[in-house]
Amino acid sequence: MKQIEVSTPKRTKEIIARHGFSFKKSLGQNFLIDSNILNRIVDAAELSKDKAALEIGPGIGALTQRLAQEAGKVTAVEIDQRLIPILSEILAEEEHVDVVHGDVLQLDLAKLFQDKFAGFSKVSVVANLPYYVTTPILMKLLEEKLPLEHIVVMIQKEVAQRMAAKPGGKDYGSLSIAVQYYCTTEIVCMVPHTVFIPQPNVDSAVIKLSLRQQPAVAVDDEAFFFRVVQSAFAQRRKTLINNLLQLTGKEKRPQLTELLEQIEIDPGRRGETLSLDEYAKLSQALKASGLAG
Ligand code: SAM
Repeated sequence: MKQIEVSTPKRTKEIIARHGFSFKKSLGQNFLIDSNILNRIVDAAELSKDKAALEIGPGIGALTQRLAQEAGKVTAVEIDQRLIPILSEILAEEEHVDVVHGDVLQLDLAKLFQDKFAGFSKVSVVANLPYYVTTPILMKLLEEKLPLEHIVVMIQKEVAQRMAAKPGGKDYGSLSIAVQYYCTTEIVCMVPHTVFIPQPNVDSAVIKLSLRQQPAVAVDDEAFFFRVVQSAFAQRRKTLINNLLQLTGKEKRPQLTELLEQIEIDPGRRGETLSLDEYAKLSQALKASGLAG
């Protein structure tokens, strides 16, 4: 017998009531109750039976059920022990779905990939993320260089806009650069807060990150590149050179000015106007100069 889909307000409320489940705000528990949005998320992930999906925070399994229909294998990581029996019930007939109880930030994801996705060359992360840990989760996925095809996630609208922002605007910052270094970005759709139980205070967006074969720019020292980017945005009102002086020490202002002029970046610009290419050029030149210690 096919399981009944859980993504309607009535079914969600019924399951929650039957299990006596109470939402924990501290775990970012806002369950999606709109099947159109679920479809938009799943369609964007371009799944097929020869691909696998990792879901973070399955809740009561509404998205998990849809992923199970499309992908050859689904692994869902849920931190809240109280949801595990509910997920076992909802997903009882889905043999290619595993639920792992744990905190995704603490898990050894490389090992999880080996254990759960052996034989699948294409794995995507698809999730309605808990908003209180969106950025740490995404940075963990990217920095661990997992063999991912796409990351399609529902996140807070403002965070999605910052991830997809281009140089020159107020949304562009170190998060835009970190994400765009590893991925191309596409905002799939905006999502009003009314499609969740309980409703969050903020609006959301679905963003699709497609992992690049190679990072967007070539740098010799990735950690140093990100240090340069962080310091360029340390205080948004300050000029690039004034922010970079924290890396070199104030006494190196003349040498830093000369270096920026040599690579044709005006020291009076602000961090938010530099492209990824310019940050790569800057980090390479700073590293080679030895000015940043
Ligand atoms: N996927 C469900 C949906 O769309 O209705 C629930 C999404 S809800 C926004 C976020 C889910 O992530 C919750 O089930 C919550 O318990 C879980 N969660 C929160 N922090 C987590 C963590 N660190 N690791 C794994 N799951 C987490």
